[in-house]
Amino acid sequence: MSREKPVLKLYNTETRRNESVPTDGGNRVRMYACGPTVYNYAHIGNLRTYIFEDLLRRTLLFYGYDIFHVMNITDVDDKTIREAKSAGLSLEAFTKKYTDAFFDDLHTLKVQKAESYPSAVAHIPEMIAMIEKLVREGIAYQGTDKSIYFSIRKFPSYGRLSHFCLEDLKEGGSQRLESDEYEKETAADFVLWKAYDPTRDGEIYWESPFGRGRPGWHIECSAMARKSIGETVDIHCGGVDNMFPHHENEIAQSESCSGKKFVQLWMHAQHLIVDGKKMSKSLGNFYTLRDLTEKGFSGEEVRFLLLQTHYRTQLNFTLEGLFAARKSLQRIRDCLDRIEHAAETAENHLHEVLEDALYGWKKALGDDLNIAEALAALFDAVRFVNSSIDTHQGISSSDKKKVYAFFEQIDSVLACLPLEKTEETLSEDLQEAVRLRAQARKDKNWSVADAQRDYIHSCGYEIEDTPTGTVLKKKSK
Ligand SMILES: [Zn+2]
Repeated sequence: MSREKPVLKLYNTETRRNESVPTDGGNRVRMYACGPTVYNYAHIGNLRTYIFEDLLRRTLLFYGYDIFHVMNITDVDDKTIREAKSAGLSLEAFTKKYTDAFFDDLHTLKVQKAESYPSAVAHIPEMIAMIEKLVREGIAYQGTDKSIYFSIRKFPSYGRLSHFCLEDLKEGGSQRLESDEYEKETAADFVLWKAYDPTRDGEIYWESPFGRGRPGWHIECSAMARKSIGETVDIHCGGVDNMFPHHENEIAQSESCSGKKFVQLWMHAQHLIVDGKKMSKSLGNFYTLRDLTEKGFSGEEVRFLLLQTHYRTQLNFTLEGLFAARKSLQRIRDCLDRIEHAAETAENHLHEVLEDALYGWKKALGDDLNIAEALAALFDAVRFVNSSIDTHQGISSSDKKKVYAFFEQIDSVLACLPLEKTEETLSEDLQEAVRLRAQARKDKNWSVADAQRDYIHSCGYEIEDTPTGTVLKKKSK
């Protein structure tokens, strides 16, 4: 049966349409993602965005694109300076701790490494060069407070990403804002270079043609994107909370410097709420990855939960949801366990079903990463494989291989399926216990068999005796 080849289309926040994947002219996608501000551990809302970006990256690779993915590390801004000072540490020592923690989190969550992680403090000269150009062209100016501001009136399409009209702003352009974050209603000239304030900044400053100071947050990304990728980025992504003012300001700065389109396609991950409420420390519903792994959840379980809601839909995080994620992954493990221990039968032609499922998987992801439909294709296949083993009382060795290959292909994108073989995940003690129990049962030495059974149970496993041997299954908590 010939069918249409799946095509990958992505929703562009700026045009509000699904569009083809933009590239550098060849097959390569140059992707920029706003990275962490390293003043604290990432919370699960941040992690949701990084996991969405990983799903995007892996889907692009699945579709055969080459990737050059850049994620910056914001290691100087209002928050890092404030917290480093209150911790009594140098900016470098303070941010290193949280940069390391960030990479640990990515590792736990099976997020593929980007090609480059530029740091803001390593790009101060590039930021100064951009600001100088903006000042030279009369787009930026020095305020009475000595800081340098971008005049949004000098960039007529300001607001086009977040879809608001500059003319609708009451006082737009007549005010200046020095803080990095503010609401759309208060849009005004934003800061590019913050003049040094000894009380606020302590020892943290750089010399520049505009005097001692430090960069504003927005110019950091413009400068790092330009240095790492060039004047035009194919896909720029981030959390929806960065759309305004951060991404709007990035466009204004970058396009005013280059005269070229800064970003071909913008993608934004929606918010995450917890138990139906905004996540906040004061409500006691604030989670980092560490909080969840301490509760006994694995990186794969957290990843699966954060993945399974479409990135443009608000995600309601609950602990029950994590238990459900664990159960879903266990269904895959159970299916693999059955396959491993099933009797050998004649060919059942599972490949047609698996090919259909893989096609459905790819096609769904091609529709702006429609993960719900993609997962439905996966679990339909699991159901079919299970019922085929029931019907035929086993599986052929070639079908076995095809099922493994199918799961591996899916997992090149999902990256959280429990694919390792059971024997390999069991500790030596447990393997020994399984052996001793089998021998004791053969010898009808029931007290030894029971003792080994109790030991296995105490390690959190259930025992399933099948015609082809004993299988241990992790007890669901
Ligand atoms: Zn950014």
